[in-house]
Amino acid sequence: MAIVRPVETESTSHRRFSTHSPVDERIIGEFDVTTAAEVELAVDRARQAQIDWAARSFPERRQVMQAALAILMDRQEEFVDRIVAETGRSRMETTMMEIFAACDSLNFFGERAQSILCERSIDMHLFRLFKRARLVYQPLGVVGVITPWNGPFILALNPTVQALMAGNAVIVKPSEITPDCGRLVEELFTAAGAPNGLVQVITGDGETGAALIESGVNKISFTGSVATGKRVAEACGRNLIACTLELGGKDPAIICADADLDRAVGGTVFGCMMNGGQFCSGVERVYVVAEIAEAFIERVANKVATLKLGHEGDYDIGPFISAAQIDIVESHVNDAVNKGAKVLVGGKRSDLGPYFFEPTLIVDVTHEMSVMTEETFGPVLPIMIVSDEEEAIRMANDTQYGLAATVWTKDKDKGVKIARRLDAGSVILNDSSVTYGALELPFGGMKSSGLGRVNGEDGLRGYCRSQPILINRFNQAEEFVWYPYTEAKRQRLKKAIHWLWGTPFRWLMK
Ligand code: NAD
Repeated sequence: MAIVRPVETESTSHRRFSTHSPVDERIIGEFDVTTAAEVELAVDRARQAQIDWAARSFPERRQVMQAALAILMDRQEEFVDRIVAETGRSRMETTMMEIFAACDSLNFFGERAQSILCERSIDMHLFRLFKRARLVYQPLGVVGVITPWNGPFILALNPTVQALMAGNAVIVKPSEITPDCGRLVEELFTAAGAPNGLVQVITGDGETGAALIESGVNKISFTGSVATGKRVAEACGRNLIACTLELGGKDPAIICADADLDRAVGGTVFGCMMNGGQFCSGVERVYVVAEIAEAFIERVANKVATLKLGHEGDYDIGPFISAAQIDIVESHVNDAVNKGAKVLVGGKRSDLGPYFFEPTLIVDVTHEMSVMTEETFGPVLPIMIVSDEEEAIRMANDTQYGLAATVWTKDKDKGVKIARRLDAGSVILNDSSVTYGALELPFGGMKSSGLGRVNGEDGLRGYCRSQPILINRFNQAEEFVWYPYTEAKRQRLKKAIHWLWGTPFRWLMK
């Protein structure tokens, strides 16, 4: 169903696919599916390259990131051309979501990694007098990065930058729908002088992704759907390798009675419609407090009606990147209408091309409708009126997902209190869509939205194993607890327990 189609080939060893523009289905390119044996060879090459790379200092690794940044800035039009060809997205949105964000990732992690991952000494408590401790962040080895089609360059590049700065080699398996966007990552690092084999892209579908997990890599950084994420987690568990799972969401927006209405309208519509709604932490459902519901809905309707669907010149929303998406989105809208919802704007396919869907506003929705409970991943904004903020919080948490959420209120203290009560990996007050871009903060989900974090200190350290090294201060002949065990020693140990935790000396044990 995707805009990727099998191609007849005489090869008995490789399956082959063609990729097609989501605008008009014209052919963009063809690729061979990397076989399991080739995946293993790629991992072997990566493992070789990683040895020298891990030995490089942080400034040396940073130099490659800076070179990549300079190349990306210089060749950004070419990168935008190739990303737009596979996604149909506007050049403005592509520059914002992919190029701008990639530049920031290269620069930020290039600069910040050393302070987060450098070897450090740790203050000891129990062993304070007798030992020193160092904490070393060792690279894991080879990291597999498996990515979706909706942010096909940045979602491959950003984990790659973090894994590289931590001293790993990377194999990227991009979505079969957007393989060329994945290739850009390898091309960029090759041009930036990364050692041969350090960053490689393998193309293929789920079979290739599954082969990557079985190939001996040391970690999988997966971004994609909940269903695939569960399969990835099972395979990683079987292989006892680490994984982070960045999965789907059904992000709520709560519009309080005291919200700045203009900003809430603009931010909610943007948060929902950006990337044609194909955005993991986009606004997928809105709960507006009754007091301001009429005014809010009227302004949202006006705003949504102004959005321009298209594929040439200036436009706001392009086609679906994945063909399968239009059927999912249409079925959510139809299900809602059949159960009593009202479409105020849009609601149907557009005649611009086979994969265009009108920006849509729906009201009178309930949690009996898939548009309020399942990830829609399209330009559809369902709004539900609630009696108060308590009901909004209850409805927002009534979901299997927990990726992100937005709260709109002029009272920031109240906003923070609401945020703390939401089942969401991250929460934004009075803005939308910016959490993944705040690179110093850990990003990820709870519930079905995933495990682990990308970005921030947590994300970067996730590409390492932390190795404590304990160093004995004095070379005394032996330690008190060493053999032989005697009752006399046990009595002294009991005294020590009393002295350490039963007297004011307890403060030393912090
Ligand atoms: P998907 O799960 O269908 O595919 C993701 C990747 O996994 C692709 O590269 C695919 O080829 C590969 N894959 C498929 N089966 C596999 C298997 N058995 N083993 C290993 N790899 C396998 O997802 P998609 O449709 O490409 O992407 C859309 C989804 O991604 C949405 O649900 C969206 O919310 C989610 N997403 C999440 C985030 C986040 O950060 N939380 C970001 C972007 C997208």
